[in-house]
Amino acid sequence: MPLEAPLAPATERAAELDARFARHGATAILRHALSDAQVGRIALVSSFGAEAAVLLHMVSVIDRTTPVIFLDTEMLFPETLAYQQALTDLLGLADVRLERPDRAQVFATDPDATLHRTQPDACCALRKAAPLARALAPFDAWITGRKRFQGGRRAGLPAFEADAAGRIKVNPLARWEPGDVTDYMVNNRLPRHPLVAHGYASLGCAPCTTPVAAGEDPRAGRWRGRGKTECGIHFDGGRVVRGTAGGAVHER
Ligand code: SF4
Repeated sequence: MPLEAPLAPATERAAELDARFARHGATAILRHALSDAQVGRIALVSSFGAEAAVLLHMVSVIDRTTPVIFLDTEMLFPETLAYQQALTDLLGLADVRLERPDRAQVFATDPDATLHRTQPDACCALRKAAPLARALAPFDAWITGRKRFQGGRRAGLPAFEADAAGRIKVNPLARWEPGDVTDYMVNNRLPRHPLVAHGYASLGCAPCTTPVAAGEDPRAGRWRGRGKTECGIHFDGGRVVRGTAGGAVHER
């Protein structure tokens, strides 16, 4: 059996892929990401949150055996867990990998599940960042649902980028507008996360998420009043950037 050629540095590959595919549509970007040898082994990281059904549906159509990483922080809404199971079944996703916080670490640092009240960054590190790092260990690349319209440092988000760990991050929806998400959900008859109807425009952990009012930033309900806007799973040049968990974790 021939040996596989080692991959070039992620920064080089990401720049080349972005130059080739940045102006392609989301589905075309995703198809390339799932099949191009330059990308390597890839997984979708999904929060199964408010907009996650879009990428999950695209992946299910292209290749439903694509690994999907779902971070169960053990602090999620019960509705998110039910939605994850329902969407997985509906879309026929064959390889959803549920990753939870390390049990010994939880007992040692957050035995009563109140760390989020006093040290939310440490809680996110324990319940999101560390599990994601473990889950991504076998992969060369990951797919996120981040979009330029979400603002901040995402305003210039490329379709392909390199992360601090040397993996490629693929953002097929980078150029989408809010209406594109709604249209895709409606046109493909995808079920909404049940809490969207109750004003939750962005879904994270239950103790750190509130509904938003009409006209508010969709992410205003995340860590409301806490001076925290990031879960810490997206880094850009060593700086935390606005994160999803799903998204996904991603996406949010
Ligand atoms: S969002 Fe809140 S509960 Fe969830 S991991 Fe972060 S601080 Fe902890």
